[in-house]
Amino acid sequence: MIINIPENSDFSIHNIPFGIFSTEDRTPRAGVAIGEHILDLVAVAELDVFDFNTAVLEKEVLNDFISLGKEITNRVRKDIQHWLQDEDSVLARKPELFVLQSDAQMHMPVYIGDYTDFYSSIEHATNVGTMFRDPAKALMPNWKHIPVGYHGRASSIVASGEPIHRPKGQTLPKDSDTPIFGPSQRLDFELEMGFITGKNTNLGESISTDEAEDYIFGMVLLNDWSARDIQKWEYVPLGPFLAKNFASHISPWIVTLEALDPFRVSGPEQNPKVLPYLEFEGTKNYDINLEVGISPENTEEQVVCHSNFKYMYWNMAQQLAHHTVNGCNINIGDLYGSGTISGKDENSYGSMLELAWMGTKPLKMKDGSERKFIQDGDTVIMRGFAEKEGKRVGFGEVSAKVLPAK
Ligand code: MN
Repeated sequence: MIINIPENSDFSIHNIPFGIFSTEDRTPRAGVAIGEHILDLVAVAELDVFDFNTAVLEKEVLNDFISLGKEITNRVRKDIQHWLQDEDSVLARKPELFVLQSDAQMHMPVYIGDYTDFYSSIEHATNVGTMFRDPAKALMPNWKHIPVGYHGRASSIVASGEPIHRPKGQTLPKDSDTPIFGPSQRLDFELEMGFITGKNTNLGESISTDEAEDYIFGMVLLNDWSARDIQKWEYVPLGPFLAKNFASHISPWIVTLEALDPFRVSGPEQNPKVLPYLEFEGTKNYDINLEVGISPENTEEQVVCHSNFKYMYWNMAQQLAHHTVNGCNINIGDLYGSGTISGKDENSYGSMLELAWMGTKPLKMKDGSERKFIQDGDTVIMRGFAEKEGKRVGFGEVSAKVLPAK
């Protein structure tokens, strides 16, 4: 290996995720994470080793690079894996090609034109249905037939590290029929993963479950912030609006679907049988360990949730097939959220709403304070990695601090 990769690094030789970084003397540009370093792809291109128009690597987002297609982007990943392991390769003895991640600023990896959020964890949908409706009818009648989703807001999706202000809005106080306006009192995270599409379709075209993976460039961690009190008052009849669109954070490195391939597993059994356009072949879930930590101001982080992407009832191929079955077109750089990823155990729930069960079971922090929801000054950190037979492929983290309402 021509660069040291610490053991247990998320960014092993098996990963090679793509992102956009800058440093004091390097403008925002494409790079890949390797161990604690970033390989500067613009600097690599200057060695004349790529056979495509490398101007795409100098862009402030990866959309144009992704648009080259998987044949090229996968080859770049493979070549880099090969070069990094060859002591005599074109990358050897060229320290100027690498920068420390700690010296770099990460940016949004793609321009996101459209954002859709699904609701595909059966445990999460059941928990929310139990809390807000009748426990006996927690799942709506459509839930096992449709990968339920809604169109979110792309403009407020930001990169890990950017602080957000507590949102303000209308809420309905308990036992009152007059709404009030003010900062949300029930600010929550949603532990999600998102996939980013790497190919366009034309209006009127559909993507089958068989083809879906060709259209998925890669995945990121997604913290889909939610204001539960605003949500409760506004969501009937048209669904999520201002409770959801004030901010969502994504992790800066896009892990390709190819890097995740060794971690495929079967998903939960789908019963009743789905309609033919949602049927699929093969294993389409992924075993990705997920965790959420809360770090109150000046206090050590407390991990509050361990979950796994493999719990998803609906897989990404079904989500994309469903999304396009009516002819809705998709674009390179679109983001598709999984929905909150909860497991069966109480410590695997992917939101404060569920972890503290609507405020009835507050969580203890290391400084002795309690959390029913997220407080000002709290930093919420999500991490994810897959590991099998000594191969580790991870996402790093998505982290953001909550500042008081403006
Ligand atoms: Mn969500």
